[in-house]
Amino acid sequence: MARPSCARIDLGALRHNYAYAKALHGGRALAVIKANGYGHGAVPCAMALAAMADGYAVACLEEALTLRAAGVAAPILLLEGVFEADELELVHAHDLWVVVHHQAQLRMIEASRTGGLSVWLKVDSGMHRAGFAPLDAAAAHERLLASGKVADIVLMTHFARADEREEAATTCQIAEFDAATANLPGARSLCNSAGLLAWPAARRDWARPGIMLYGANPLAGPLLEPNHSLKPVMTLESHVFAVRTLRPGDALGYGGCFVARQPTRVGLVAVGYADGYPRSAPSGTPVAIEGRLSQVLGRVSMDMLTVDLTALPDAGSGSRVELWGAQVDVNQVAAAAGTIAYELLCNVKRVPLVYV
Ligand SMILES: *Cc1c(COP(=O)(O)O)cnc(C)c1O
Repeated sequence: MARPSCARIDLGALRHNYAYAKALHGGRALAVIKANGYGHGAVPCAMALAAMADGYAVACLEEALTLRAAGVAAPILLLEGVFEADELELVHAHDLWVVVHHQAQLRMIEASRTGGLSVWLKVDSGMHRAGFAPLDAAAAHERLLASGKVADIVLMTHFARADEREEAATTCQIAEFDAATANLPGARSLCNSAGLLAWPAARRDWARPGIMLYGANPLAGPLLEPNHSLKPVMTLESHVFAVRTLRPGDALGYGGCFVARQPTRVGLVAVGYADGYPRSAPSGTPVAIEGRLSQVLGRVSMDMLTVDLTALPDAGSGSRVELWGAQVDVNQVAAAAGTIAYELLCNVKRVPLVYV
């Protein structure tokens, strides 16, 4: 019998979330499917959205070529742009869109033998990671036009703190971006998921929703709200495959970091950190067993983890365990493990992805 672990991917939920994102934004939306669709499988996700998506966004050329090879014909934007000049020939041949966010990329375009490129010019409005400084944006725009290699320019920026509703940084970024691009023609794109959900003033021509397509609310921390509009796409699940009862004083697993204080029924589950479940999830991290909430006990191992069955006398070998999904919000697991849903989702590996 096969190892009873998988990540179930609900493509109907993905379509629902994309439709919700697009309707809320009101403009066009690139479905961000970088990092293998945040762990959900970029090609099946692209296929599932084919009839509705205005286009897709990935990190790099390699990810875009995988989509083209699978027959995806819609626009695809490279969010990091190109790293080497010779990539521009493939960008042209495969009709991809490129972000340009620093001088070397600008020079590669000026020197390239290709033409007719669709460029997204990235302005650094305050994140200070990538993008042209506001004072350099107009000159970069001018050089792109003068290069003769560019057919269309979209103006874009990216938010550092859009998930913090009370924080002034996003308002400042919007103002910086507007000032830097005031006299430049072209469509605008500001919003990632958090920007789209929390900052209506930033919704312009193109949205770039990522995490919300997979049903995870990006408005994390104390502002995390129950969200009735996003449906989780991935359910990471397995079964209990062995059961034992600890006596008071027994230490469980590596490091003996859980010690039973009372007789404790423990179920062994066939998911570990080699599947992408975080080793940093401590005792107490929520799981659902046959639909009822319980918790991880002891340290997560490479191939398995242990859960508390003490309050669930009917549960035992064969009981279904949800590590995250509709019952256990991936944000809660991420918070317990000291990380974010993005990292958990895009780290899922070894377990088969099962599409429903
Ligand atoms: C990854 C990425 C997005 C999507 O971000 P989410 O927070 O997942 O919605 C949007 N824009 C850029 C530039 C990105 O790199």
